[in-house]
Amino acid sequence: MKIDRRTVIQGLCIAGTAGAFDVGISFLARKSESKTLLRPPGALEESDFLASCIKCGQCIQVCPFSSISLLDLSGGINTATPYIDPVKRGCYLCDLFPCILCCPSGALDDEVQKIDQVHMGVAYITEPKNCLNYKNTKVSKENVDRIKAHGDRTELEKELNEKLSAQVGKDCELCLEVCRVEPRDGAIKLIGKEPVIGKSCVGCGACTEVCPASIIKIAPAVTYEDYYNKRGAKK
Ligand code: SF4
Ligand code: SF4
Ligand code: SF4
Repeated sequence: MKIDRRTVIQGLCIAGTAGAFDVGISFLARKSESKTLLRPPGALEESDFLASCIKCGQCIQVCPFSSISLLDLSGGINTATPYIDPVKRGCYLCDLFPCILCCPSGALDDEVQKIDQVHMGVAYITEPKNCLNYKNTKVSKENVDRIKAHGDRTELEKELNEKLSAQVGKDCELCLEVCRVEPRDGAIKLIGKEPVIGKSCVGCGACTEVCPASIIKIAPAVTYEDYYNKRGAKK
């Protein structure tokens, strides 16, 4: 069954080649630096990624969440390479990683087939006391509508929107709801009324996108060990 799905996705990749640049380039207004970019899952180490990526845009074409953009001309050496801005749209770590399967250059490593092989970066919490739970505030319709406004062009986006709608009026666990790491509390959990990131976080940024308090950020291309232990960052 899994092999069949891989074959189907790879067929879609080939079909999408001719229109790869139809999606255009995202015109990011600021100048970016490679070390700050969050790359799609499976991305090689940054210098190898830049050497390998042929800027074909296939990963963008097949992403069912429209999570990936191409960097605009202000990106210098990074121009037209794919990146993820999790404030706008995180990666939802799809089954079989269509972005990886469609990458013809190996810039996204097809050895990465499971979530625990993904190393995009790591999440960190900026102001835990602004968590809705700490403030005893329930999830509002507006909190969810903001995320749903991204669209429902695919079945996966529709499923996501339905899942989020079901959270309206409840204590906020939106970050936990979208985290696909198993067991989930290895990546993110609430301790008391504050969110805490765990060592299984892969840095997909889905929690960043959905958090109504905007208190979850992603440090790209670093491990939990690098971020929390070596740098002595606050957990
Ligand atoms: S894993 Fe899915 S959501 Fe994430 S970038 Fe790849 S195709 Fe998009
Ligand atoms: S906590 Fe989960 S949803 Fe958030 S970045 Fe880490 S793996 Fe992704
Ligand atoms: S998404 Fe998570 S961190 Fe953000 S307010 Fe809700 S429970 Fe708190």
